[in-house]
Amino acid sequence: MYPDVSLHINGEWTKGAEGRNEPILNPATGEKIGTLAHATKPDLDKALAAADSGFKVWKKTPADTRYKTLRKAADIIRSRADDIAKIMTLEQGKPVVEAKGETLLAGDIMDWFAEEARRTYGRVIPARGENIYQLVVKEPVGPVAAFTPWNFPINQAVRKVSAAIAAGCSIILKGPEETPGSCAALVQAYLDAGVPAGVLQLVYGNPAEISSYLIPHPVIRKITFTGSTPVGKQLASLAGLHMKRITMELGGHAPAIVFDDANVDVAVKVLSANKHRNAGQVCVAPTRFLVHEKVYGDFVQKYTDASKKLKVGDGLDKDSRMGPLANTRRVDAMEAFVADAVQKGAKLETGGKRIGNKGNFFEPTVLTNINNDMRIMNEEPFGPLSPIVPFSSFDSVVAEANRLPYGLAAYAYTNSAKTASAIGAAFESGMVSINHHGLALPEVPFGGVKDSGYGSEGGSEAIEAYLNTKFISQLGI
Ligand code: NAD
Repeated sequence: MYPDVSLHINGEWTKGAEGRNEPILNPATGEKIGTLAHATKPDLDKALAAADSGFKVWKKTPADTRYKTLRKAADIIRSRADDIAKIMTLEQGKPVVEAKGETLLAGDIMDWFAEEARRTYGRVIPARGENIYQLVVKEPVGPVAAFTPWNFPINQAVRKVSAAIAAGCSIILKGPEETPGSCAALVQAYLDAGVPAGVLQLVYGNPAEISSYLIPHPVIRKITFTGSTPVGKQLASLAGLHMKRITMELGGHAPAIVFDDANVDVAVKVLSANKHRNAGQVCVAPTRFLVHEKVYGDFVQKYTDASKKLKVGDGLDKDSRMGPLANTRRVDAMEAFVADAVQKGAKLETGGKRIGNKGNFFEPTVLTNINNDMRIMNEEPFGPLSPIVPFSSFDSVVAEANRLPYGLAAYAYTNSAKTASAIGAAFESGMVSINHHGLALPEVPFGGVKDSGYGSEGGSEAIEAYLNTKFISQLGI
């Protein structure tokens, strides 16, 4: 059921020049399910040469052809969603219903960028002299190097690859080594839709080796990365040294504010569902729960009850609502966050421990009696931990919400239109959702500010990141 995973370079699937590989593990069992080929320098050189020649072909391919190719890829991935979802659950752990949702959303993202391909409009600027045409045209930026993580093996890749293909760029995608099979299935959908050899390469291997080779390479004109802030800063500085354009989609630590006039039941339901989606390994997951003191007791009790009821289990089991963490590093990280918080005085309302001794399962965990010296209030937990903190005034909760260097997502619950407007304006965050969870659709901007990165991977801003602006002034003769 789970395929071994190869590299895709210049129109061919290959095991890699030096035969290096690594095992792929199922996070629900710890067992090996397949083998992943690694790219080394000779493979990267081939990928770069292919991206260079692929770009020369693709940038001249009519926008209408790029549109039709992406629309076809969307249809193909939708038709394969059931099979791909099982592959994703086996390698990543998330419940199969979430994996299928992610795969279907990839179709929507492809459709969005297909349409964008036909709308990379320039403009004509009125000239100061007669018979002069001042034209602004948009051109593809060139071959792209993209780096995507393991939490959404398809979603993180489909935004980058579709934007590149729509704009007329070629791309080398370094996919996620721990969850490579569904990402390879995504690449296969583009290929089956007719993306020509050289336009899209897929490589895996040692991330640092690959990024340090590709980013400075003269063939590569743009870097795009999704992952942690420390790694993003390293890659952004290397890109800066070589004057490469970048998009950085980095970590977050989203505040979720519940005001005293909020519908607590709705807040608990929506926040709990979104905290535990993908076992909390989501960059926009609600993370610091800031609840007005008047409704604090009610919220803690209902949120804790919801956490206790959550069915944790193998993502292939249709009753599971939360799967295992994707790798053993996350289990170690959860244990360390909880130990640090408890040692500094936190109260465990529920959870706090790994489940069983097989696979990477961890209990949905609720912590109260929190203070800001605790690591969980400062570092991205990236797992099913919910610290709940009371507040008493609008100004104090805004100060807490904006305290960290992160600025990716922020949430608020209130029945007052005045408070909703005020909090929407006050958040220092790239994305804000009030009274519901409304982020990450293809047609809306997706990106952060401050240490959460820059650039947008959704909405009409997204394709701009793959385009250069050229000005042509032409005197008619
Ligand atoms: P990590 O920081 O080592 O890696 C994060 C991602 O960056 C991985 O996909 C990894 O393959 C990649 N990476 C690491 N070093 C790289 C390099 N030198 N060049 C290119 N890519 C490189 O840690 P991790 O254990 O894999 O993930 C843990 C943390 O990463 C989480 O706590 C979370 O903060 C963050 N993360 C964020 C996202 C996101 O969606 N923004 C996704 C995955 C992980």
